[in-house]
Amino acid sequence: MRKTGYNEITGVIHCLSGLRVGGSDELLQIGGTDLTCIKHPVTLRPYIPGSSIKGKMRSEQEQRLGRLSGNEPCGCAKPDCLVCRVFGPHKKARHELGPTRIVVRDAASVRGGETELKSENVIDRKTGTAMHPRKVERVVAGSEFTLRIGIQVWDLDAGCKHNDKTGGDALVEFVKDGLRALQQTGLGSGISKGSGEIEFRDLKLDGTTFTL
Ligand SMILES: [Zn+2]
Repeated sequence: MRKTGYNEITGVIHCLSGLRVGGSDELLQIGGTDLTCIKHPVTLRPYIPGSSIKGKMRSEQEQRLGRLSGNEPCGCAKPDCLVCRVFGPHKKARHELGPTRIVVRDAASVRGGETELKSENVIDRKTGTAMHPRKVERVVAGSEFTLRIGIQVWDLDAGCKHNDKTGGDALVEFVKDGLRALQQTGLGSGISKGSGEIEFRDLKLDGTTFTL
């Protein structure tokens, strides 16, 4: 097994709406408790953890390719499963796919980064009244974060296919599809309530500009 290449995608994550990272939609806090967004411990600037970007890309790809097993991420570890090859098979320590190919760096704030409090209500469907009003903290629209994704290519990837690409190019194409999916759906939490709409700008693959 031999590593044969490395590709890097860089760019800017531009927030078209406010962005909430760190809050959880499942954890509904009653009585206007603030749900705060995640901040760097030293600079106190908001950032987007690489794991959030990677996790969202993975679940989008699983939904598109029909690779969800119940509510769990794919752990099939089959040679033709690009989800397992690129993101790693879920909860499977022993497999023949080699190391996880994708590395997503934490996205640091480079523009904006101020936060605002947004009121959110849950509407009681029977009575039509607002229940559990709460305030959530989110990064303001117009903020920008750095995007940096590394893609390792191994000799094991020679036979890979995705769209019309093969080998390492297929892995890159698969990651581009993931980015496209994030632009269509969004990032972070509260997407259905109007947060998390993003656009990628200044995208480059190994220094060469590309568009999605
Ligand atoms: Zn799989």
